[in-house]
Amino acid sequence: MHTERFDIIIIGSGAGGGTLAYALGGTPARILVVERGEPVPQEAENWDPAAVWKHLRYRTDERWLDERGEFTPYTHYCVGGNTKFWGSVLYRLRREDFGEIAHVDGVSPAWPISYETLEPYYARAERLYQVHGRHGDDPTDPPRSTPFPHPPVPHAEGMAAIVDRLRGFGLHPSPLPLGVIDPGVPGGCVLCNTCNSFPCRLHKKSDAEVCCVEPAVARPNVTMWTGATARRLLTDGPGRSVTAVEIERRGEVVRVEASLVVVACGAVNSAALLLRSANGAHPDGLANSSGLVGTRYMAHLATMMQGFHPFEKNETVFQKTVAINDYYLAGPGMPYPLGQIQSQGRTHGVMAQIVVPWIPLWAYEAWVARGVDWLVMTEDLPRPDNRVTVGADGRIRLQYRPNNVQAHRQLVAEAMRVLKRLGAWIVIKHSHKNKNTTHQCGTLCFGTDPRTSVLDTFCRTHDIDNLFVVDASFFPSSAAVNPGLTIAAQALRAADHIIDTHLS
Ligand SMILES: Cc1cc2nc3c(=O)[nH]c(=O)nc-3n(C[C@H](O)[C@H](O)[C@H](O)COP(=O)(O)OP(=O)(O)OC[C@H]3O[C@@H](n4cnc5c(N)ncnc54)[C@H](O)[C@@H]3O)c2cc1C
Ligand code: SF4
Repeated sequence: MHTERFDIIIIGSGAGGGTLAYALGGTPARILVVERGEPVPQEAENWDPAAVWKHLRYRTDERWLDERGEFTPYTHYCVGGNTKFWGSVLYRLRREDFGEIAHVDGVSPAWPISYETLEPYYARAERLYQVHGRHGDDPTDPPRSTPFPHPPVPHAEGMAAIVDRLRGFGLHPSPLPLGVIDPGVPGGCVLCNTCNSFPCRLHKKSDAEVCCVEPAVARPNVTMWTGATARRLLTDGPGRSVTAVEIERRGEVVRVEASLVVVACGAVNSAALLLRSANGAHPDGLANSSGLVGTRYMAHLATMMQGFHPFEKNETVFQKTVAINDYYLAGPGMPYPLGQIQSQGRTHGVMAQIVVPWIPLWAYEAWVARGVDWLVMTEDLPRPDNRVTVGADGRIRLQYRPNNVQAHRQLVAEAMRVLKRLGAWIVIKHSHKNKNTTHQCGTLCFGTDPRTSVLDTFCRTHDIDNLFVVDASFFPSSAAVNPGLTIAAQALRAADHIIDTHLS
């Protein structure tokens, strides 16, 4: 095994790691970004529903365990991480999400920082990820110091008609905040129907590779190793600092030393890496004096819904422009939050066929051509027994029992009523249930008390001075909007803190 040395190692290049690499790129520190995956090639398969959904071309082939046995998690290992496949719906959490909120199934805990603390970083993250949106239509919009950097992506004709009708029902539909580059402009995003869950063939989606990793590695002080998996973090004898990372790269094991290590592997893999790195000073896993590493896993309750009308063809190509947040803080006739409804990318016949494979593709194609697609999403609450553990062989085991299910059912029922009022003859529902790891978060929650949190409010571990975790792990609650912008904003905040405390 040979040894190399950098000043900072960032493990993972997704929303957290990629954003951090960008923000630290301008410093004098010698930075190594370690990414287990490779860049996603720009190729015809990027936009081929069969390649993406049937042959799972870009999904990891890793198998995780849950209480029923093995499963393939819905996650991707590549440069840019899961942001390559995201729908690029880039929301700020609502201001209320930072406080304690009573839900029908328990309490969503307060965050240790306020919305106002994160607000300037949200503004920076929106500029970095080129977010298009409009403030004010959504009753839950938090206050902003600056307008959205770009105007909203206009609704297609069919969606504009739906928005008018939703307003007629007394609802407050609003433009989805979207990270796309130059939509509708020659040379820019072409507003196609293969965005959410597909990589962008044109590199016009605001993902971490395009917006952060590529500009970061263009700097002379940032090096990136792809196909390089961090296996273990090594500490000094007393366990107060990480001294090196053991990395497997193209069949060789390399020891890389650094004075600062940032783990950004995604909520499940970051917890797993800390657990796998247990040693004499940290027998239960690194930074685990609280016993909380891996616990409080959350992933949202999500149901895909399609309003179907046999005689109305849906001509919309880019459908994902509308949000309904009227039930976000309280449901009709009940004081508890239900969550969010947003229009989704178009369903393709192949995607639907995966659920019931014996129905022929042409029938699915005819059906999805007459449907309008929506995503209905509810907050799940942090519970100690929803957790990531690793076996003796290092394999990931995910234990997850959904909670807040009653609120989600009620939101689905509300969405059903809305879709029926919009004229749908039939509403079809589908959920990936426990296997939906796309919005994984919360396994290394941040806080001020080392007994009740793993990370401090800047995402540094309480137990180890030179170890940070900058990805979705830090979430103390999952809220009910998409997590990506909050991960990026906190990464920018952590970067400022690292610059102030370690690099000045
Ligand atoms: C289909 C899909 C649609 C989504 N849509 C949205 C959306 O519209 N809006 C939104 O906000 N969010 C969305 N998300 C969620 C969003 O992508 C994630 O919340 C976000 O990417 C998480 O950021 P992260 O930094 O925690 O992890 P990731 O972005 O997953 O990055 C982790 C990185 O670490 C690497 N890695 C893991 N282990 C190791 C190791 N041991 N050594 C080296 N490298 C390692 C991985 O390969 C990966 O590149 C979506 C996700 C998916 C899959
Ligand atoms: S062209 Fe636009 S809509 Fe299509 S995948 Fe790229 S970013 Fe998404």
